Amino acid sequence: MFAVLLYHGIEDATPSARHMDDVDREYVLDRRRFESHVAYLAAKPATALPVVISFDDGDLSCHTMAAPILERHGLRGSFFVVTGWIGKPGFMNAEQLRDLERRGHAVHSHSRSHPRLPSLTAAAIDDELIGSKTDLEAILGRPVTQFSIPGGAYDDRVIAAARRAGYEAVFNSVEGYNKGDDAAFLLRRFTPRAYTHVEMLKEICEHPARTTARIALKRAVLGTARRVMGQRYDRVRAHVASAFRRR
Ligand SMILES: [Zn+2]
Repeated sequence: MFAVLLYHGIEDATPSARHMDDVDREYVLDRRRFESHVAYLAAKPATALPVVISFDDGDLSCHTMAAPILERHGLRGSFFVVTGWIGKPGFMNAEQLRDLERRGHAVHSHSRSHPRLPSLTAAAIDDELIGSKTDLEAILGRPVTQFSIPGGAYDDRVIAAARRAGYEAVFNSVEGYNKGDDAAFLLRRFTPRAYTHVEMLKEICEHPARTTARIALKRAVLGTARRVMGQRYDRVRAHVASAFRRR
């Protein structure tokens, strides 16, 4: 069994050049907090689960902050980039992506334009999955075999298109662990947020049974809230999430 962590951006005193709303901000970690996560991951006990450290979107801070911090601790990351955003203000450019790979990190696809894939036609889904793969292969000069789903939204058509495009692994945003066999095609991820303390990473890596029970309980509570609350569900969801955040 192993866990995949999903980060987005890191920030320090300098504000990011990219436009961010409150939801985006929730996924940006303060530099010191991120460094505390990486320090733990680099020194975690041998009995702890193996972890893959992934980043979605291609934020410039991946190159300026996240990669150097990982390297200082002897770790490497998987960076999933939106090919239509490469080189835009606040995002990595093609040379920075090649530089990450030279330094031992891996760059993968996160679509062309970050759409909600299930709302697209079959042809448009193919364009996002195959198109971004081709775009990225031209930049990196090697086959691109991994894809992460924009916004975590997918259906059977998206998964079929990913297989057709030749991807070997697809990462979603469903909270949970992955089995340690090579056959796994669709992979779950844990998403640390701005407020995620290093203790939560420790729980994920060292107490998988307790973490699995916590996830099941959270799903059950949210499922009940959805049935009972209807339209007010989103507000309830925020309260429940904040309760579980404190564990
Ligand atoms: Zn994304």
